[in-house]
Amino acid sequence: MADVNEKRLVDRFLQMVQIDSPSSHEREMADYLKKELASLGFEVAEDDAGRDLLQTLGDMRGAETIRFAGNLIARKKGTVQEASPVLFAAHMDTVVSNKGVKASIQDGVIRTDGRTILGADDKAGIAALLEVAQIIQENRLPHGDLEFVFTIAEETGLNGARLLDKKNLRAKFGFVMDSGGPPNVVIGASPTEIDFSIKIYGKAAHSGVNPEDGVSAIAAAGHGLSKVQMGRIDEETTVNIGVIKGGEKTNIVCDYVELWGEVRSRNKEKLSWEIAKIQTAFAMACEKVGARFEMEEQQIYSGFQLTESDEVVQIAFEGARKAGMNPQLAPRGGGSDTNIFNAAGIPCVNLGVGASKDHTVEESVSVKDLVQASQLVLGIVETVVERAGAEVHR
Ligand SMILES: [Zn+2]
Repeated sequence: MADVNEKRLVDRFLQMVQIDSPSSHEREMADYLKKELASLGFEVAEDDAGRDLLQTLGDMRGAETIRFAGNLIARKKGTVQEASPVLFAAHMDTVVSNKGVKASIQDGVIRTDGRTILGADDKAGIAALLEVAQIIQENRLPHGDLEFVFTIAEETGLNGARLLDKKNLRAKFGFVMDSGGPPNVVIGASPTEIDFSIKIYGKAAHSGVNPEDGVSAIAAAGHGLSKVQMGRIDEETTVNIGVIKGGEKTNIVCDYVELWGEVRSRNKEKLSWEIAKIQTAFAMACEKVGARFEMEEQQIYSGFQLTESDEVVQIAFEGARKAGMNPQLAPRGGGSDTNIFNAAGIPCVNLGVGASKDHTVEESVSVKDLVQASQLVLGIVETVVERAGAEVHR
């Protein structure tokens, strides 16, 4: 396998984390990538997802000053006609701004000074992909059609991938470079997530004068909550009520409480069952105190479950072995762009880029993992060519 240029990879990663790109402010990052990808022989298109997203959020005020971008779709024509077109994806946005980031390397680990996030989620994934594109170019490695997709607004709910026109993609399968684990862990399963809101309507009354005329929405919420099992329900199911709001004054019987929560499971029946249990808990609680409630659910993304008999998993495994790693298939409790691509009929796994403690100021990534993520991608490109029956030049 061709060598990964560690210094170039790390330098480019450090250069990219200096570009501040919180969700919906990816303009500078997109411009940087357009330039890099063009020099690496890719044709790059940008879609209108950024503008569409701001419009769906219903507020275009200041849109001219918000430095938003669209998703980037970059294509490089294959040198091996018979090889399947492959998708590689990563997201350009970071969960929050990392303006003023001071990144340094100690003992082979890249981290910040503890004041900002690093941005390895997901710039580590982007760095690995660009390094591979450069290795392919400078060594004239044989490859099939490559589709690199860099999405916007992943961190605010997979919005870029959602708005991307997936029908335009030619890839038969894909690899998303956005998992926290080490590069040998191939994420082949992820839950479906349903978010819900519960509105409890009670009746206001003076707490000291005529409390018996009131119906406490807080009491109803309390009864209901005491019957809801939260946390990890089983190996593939979790429940969380993460927000509760209600009440105004201590001397008013509270007439309105709102709760928001989520259920995730890789098993759709269990998912419906947990939703039904929560609904029943609040129905009984409201009946007990004479309150009324409404519950609304919304599917945020749908899950996927791939196995070792799926081609995309086999290719990831073969690529990992070529890179000298021992691959493992694992599930992950979170959603990612991988969910969206799978739902659109493009089987995809999520690959580890080694970023840890992402979404915190302790976020870090090891140089070794960055290098291995690049080797894994190289291994995948090579595997796809081999599977097409072509000779790989080593
Ligand atoms: Zn991410």
